[in-house]
Amino acid sequence: MQKKNSLYRYYRPKTFNDVAGHTNLKKILIEQIKNNKFSHALIFSGQRGTGKTSVAKIFAKVINCENPKDAASCETCNSCIQANNNSHPDIFELDAASNNGVDEMRNIRANVSTLPILSKYKVYIIDEFHMLTKSAYNSLLKTLEEPPQHVQFILATTELHKIPLTIISRCQNFNFARITKVDLKEQISKIAKLEGIDVEEKALDEIFYLSEGSLRDAINALEQAGSYANKVTESVLKDVFSIATKEEKIALISKVLGGDAKYVISFFENSEQQGIDFQSLSLDIINLIKEIVEFKMVGELKKNYSITLEEANSFKKFDISLLFDLSDEIAKAYESTKGSSIDSQLLLIALLKVINVSKLISVVNSEVVLSNKITNKEVEMNKTELPPFNKEEKRLVKTEFNKLEESTKTIEIKEKIVDEKPSVLGETDKKNELKEKTKITENIGKYILGEGILDNINPSIEITDLNLDQGMSVEELIADKTIDKLLEEETGVINTMDLDTELTIPINEKVVYDLSYFENLKHQGPLDKKYQDIDTIWIDDAEIVATLLNADKVKRLKFQTLINQIFDISSPQFDPTLAKKLVPLFGAKVLAGSDTSIVLIMDTPILSNYLQYKINNLDFRKHIFEKLDTELIIYSVSKERTKILKEEYVLAAKHPEEYVIPNVDDFYESLQEQIKDMSEPPLAKESKDLFLDDDYTVIK
Ligand SMILES: [Zn+2]
Repeated sequence: MQKKNSLYRYYRPKTFNDVAGHTNLKKILIEQIKNNKFSHALIFSGQRGTGKTSVAKIFAKVINCENPKDAASCETCNSCIQANNNSHPDIFELDAASNNGVDEMRNIRANVSTLPILSKYKVYIIDEFHMLTKSAYNSLLKTLEEPPQHVQFILATTELHKIPLTIISRCQNFNFARITKVDLKEQISKIAKLEGIDVEEKALDEIFYLSEGSLRDAINALEQAGSYANKVTESVLKDVFSIATKEEKIALISKVLGGDAKYVISFFENSEQQGIDFQSLSLDIINLIKEIVEFKMVGELKKNYSITLEEANSFKKFDISLLFDLSDEIAKAYESTKGSSIDSQLLLIALLKVINVSKLISVVNSEVVLSNKITNKEVEMNKTELPPFNKEEKRLVKTEFNKLEESTKTIEIKEKIVDEKPSVLGETDKKNELKEKTKITENIGKYILGEGILDNINPSIEITDLNLDQGMSVEELIADKTIDKLLEEETGVINTMDLDTELTIPINEKVVYDLSYFENLKHQGPLDKKYQDIDTIWIDDAEIVATLLNADKVKRLKFQTLINQIFDISSPQFDPTLAKKLVPLFGAKVLAGSDTSIVLIMDTPILSNYLQYKINNLDFRKHIFEKLDTELIIYSVSKERTKILKEEYVLAAKHPEEYVIPNVDDFYESLQEQIKDMSEPPLAKESKDLFLDDDYTVIK
């Protein structure tokens, strides 16, 4: 261990210039020193190994140097020499982790009043400051409030959130970000050159992943690998640190996206035997995904990318959303084990989940065809049997239609799989066709709920070539039934539906639930006559912006997952009755979530207004509260409005104190008032205004 740390100690930066990365932070510190305007209590926060202690030591040396030049130490004066030897009588390094620190803090308090021995300042560098006990904090608090002119505190911590606000508010905080790949690689190459260690470019990338942005770990890795072999290559690192190579990681990503569960499982079995470090594997995969996604979006590779053009191109066939899913799942698995090392099983499950999604797409894909058909029929039917569409409805149907067409196109790119409808979905790989048909059948079994329809039919019989040749697929059989069902509902329940009661659709008959089913159902609500009397519900931008200002990413992800779950037909907990009740929520994207509020995005203003209207219904929102496990304000906004909200948000961020999330009960009370006003006939409203009487009712 001693030897392991030596290179790091040796190359510990001696001046601000030597410190890798942290450009802005260094600039600010240097300016403050030059102008003699630095705070006497600094907090250096950030991940381990990012240079907090090094910068603290340099800072202490510079402010005590006898002949400083432009905030740089002279390195020759007595003070500098003592500081470099770690023997400066006025620079104190304490480790709060070694004990609870009460005595040390009392000592500090007792000694701060005496003047420094050698230099201008007594500097106290306290490492792992968050480890202090409450009483230790308290004994230091008064000193921090009004430190004597000759005292300088530098409090270093990896966990800023554990430090009491009373302390933080008395200090200037500097956040030490994870060192960037470019900066780290540059520093490691420099040290390797000085040490005569030959390092492959690829190996530099691996060292970055391995060290998770900690320069200290990276230097240690270099030293360890350098003592194992003359030339540090990817395979040397693999031997020394049990890591997977980039090729292996790229193959893994590719297999996950391609739905090859077998490969993924056996990769994990082998990796476990080899003792692979799953922590760095997770981070590496996320980093590679980032590069692939950027390449997909921008169409070119950045210089510092670790993937090659050929590798990047091999991902062209996969849909970008799958890559997002994959990184989300891995990040979730990683987050859930933060602090300890990631469990290989958790990571494996995360990957298998994505495989499941990639297969789901193949099913959804076939259902898109089905949805198209439904939409067609709906449009036709509405033309003949229902009053003509108003402008907004026409637009709505058209948008939906386009969207479906659009998604058909996208899915075609997503995976070649697709299916037995080449005329709609474009060219299909004949060879894959049969294989994929079987896959779809397997999945479809899961998506049929209720009894009957296909339960008695052996899917493998249904998918015979004969059927397919006749152009009848399982999907189409289902489709026919679904269409009948929907037509029935169209003329029956849905149009007479009372919005204040829940959507009541008889389920005594066998109903097929799939994503397009909910998608279609969702649009029925706003078409209802009763709803047509409702104006747009008005909620002030500022009110919603307050939630954006208090947004919590973890909450957002959690809420999104829970909302998705309601309509997750593949889940064993799927409750069709609840899903139907909450169908106006189908497809909602969570824009932001806070402790007491959530902002949902719906595709169109009509859908978003309808959802907000439904949320006013106590019963409806109670179901959501139950699902989200909390009572909160639910805002529903359209995609279009989010642009305005985001602009507002940028302005609001300058004075966030002016934006307050309302009380939950107050919000629903005023929403109720507003809707009551809107649904009342104009005459009644006028009379009410005239008499100022809330209990006034109009008799026809
Ligand atoms: Zn000096």
